[in-house]
Amino acid sequence: MAEYDIALVGGGLTGVALAGLLKARGKSVVHFAPAMEKDYRTSALMMPTVEFLAQSGLCEDPDSLGYPLRQIRIIDATQRLLRSPEALFDSKEIGREQFGYNFPNADLLAHFQKVGEGKDGHIDQIDARVGLIERRDDLFVITDSHQQEHHARLLVGADGKKSMVRQHFGFAYDEEPFEQSALVCDFEFERSIGDCSIEFHYENGPFTLVPAHNNKINLVWLDRHKVLNDTMGLSDEKFEQLLAEKAHHLFGHAKLLSKRFVFPLTNIHMRTAGKDGVVLVGEAAHAFPPIGAQGLNLGLRDVESFIEALDEVAPAGTPISASAARKISDRYAAKRTADLIKTSGFVDGLFKSLLSDFLPAQALRLSGLWALKTMQPLRKLAFKIGMGR
Ligand SMILES: Cc1cc2nc3c(=O)[nH]c(=O)nc-3n(C[C@H](O)[C@H](O)[C@H](O)COP(=O)(O)OP(=O)(O)OC[C@H]3O[C@@H](n4cnc5c(N)ncnc54)[C@H](O)[C@@H]3O)c2cc1C
Repeated sequence: MAEYDIALVGGGLTGVALAGLLKARGKSVVHFAPAMEKDYRTSALMMPTVEFLAQSGLCEDPDSLGYPLRQIRIIDATQRLLRSPEALFDSKEIGREQFGYNFPNADLLAHFQKVGEGKDGHIDQIDARVGLIERRDDLFVITDSHQQEHHARLLVGADGKKSMVRQHFGFAYDEEPFEQSALVCDFEFERSIGDCSIEFHYENGPFTLVPAHNNKINLVWLDRHKVLNDTMGLSDEKFEQLLAEKAHHLFGHAKLLSKRFVFPLTNIHMRTAGKDGVVLVGEAAHAFPPIGAQGLNLGLRDVESFIEALDEVAPAGTPISASAARKISDRYAAKRTADLIKTSGFVDGLFKSLLSDFLPAQALRLSGLWALKTMQPLRKLAFKIGMGR
């Protein structure tokens, strides 16, 4: 039976990005990527991530694919006693043309799928789920849902929030489900929102308008499950009225352009995302609510770090031995820990402060936003953390 360098589990954006880069490095890979339904969401990716995509060949021409995000406007739409001032952030403040781009996930995936084409490595794509993983001496023995067995020396779990790889190999993590879900859809307003992402902060979560091509707006609305489920039952007309209302009628009437989808939200935090020849990337290693556009940005930084660790230990053309596999997983874990702690802490703190009814927390958030509005050094620090560097 063939022995692969790497078994990669998961055909989401992080798994597919990694598969192409591994093939480009001449590795032999078995990639378990069961067919998925089309992902209609979009992802705001910050410039450091976009630069990585361009350099690595994952997306060489971001302008052709994404919509530039040049401004971020935050409006406190709560009825709370202490309300924050409106804040506007412009990418020019940090000497950039844009903070990042808003990409359709399906287009990103199609680009990522092309990266390995014509490269030296070897990938066997398996359109089946992994059913069982065992460790036999130095090999991972993986049985797929068609009862086929595959052998590899390094195992990568890119298998999402409910990661089987994470569970099976006993990675320590904390998981916290939320009362909130996220509703996403595409629509347009009578008047354009330009290239500004606008967040209306409500008591139960932000209602965020992200600009896209052709005046389209991608909505990411966080609210309690029940509120969103009730909203799903509204007619298109009633829903369009609600969209205009939630945006304070600033941009005129709304016209719905897509179906509506609801995603449940969970927090998953861990510190060590690699050990003993096994690594976790993307939501297998971390998950949080979609605020501040961090999830896929962090997932693609996982991909970048994994490739760095691989290049250090087993450069292009070198097969991966079992001891090299352990070294790679350890190096990867060491590279990721600080970023995992920092980004999870940032999103968690932000989300909980947005939702808090506790008066001192509101005061803290208010003073924080005032400080962000007025103090240049603090604004710069916030930009740095938000951009993921
Ligand atoms: C509403 C919403 C908006 C978002 N917006 C942004 C944004 O603007 N910016 C940003 O950076 N992030 C954003 N995110 C986060 C981003 O979407 C995720 O971080 C990203 O999609 C995760 O990709 P992944 O490849 O890690 O996981 P997934 O996309 O979950 O992929 C995991 C894959 O593994 C497969 N799998 C699972 N188990 C097995 C198995 N046993 N065998 C084989 N395959 C298996 C699944 O079928 C799936 O294809 C958003 C998230 C949500 C919910």
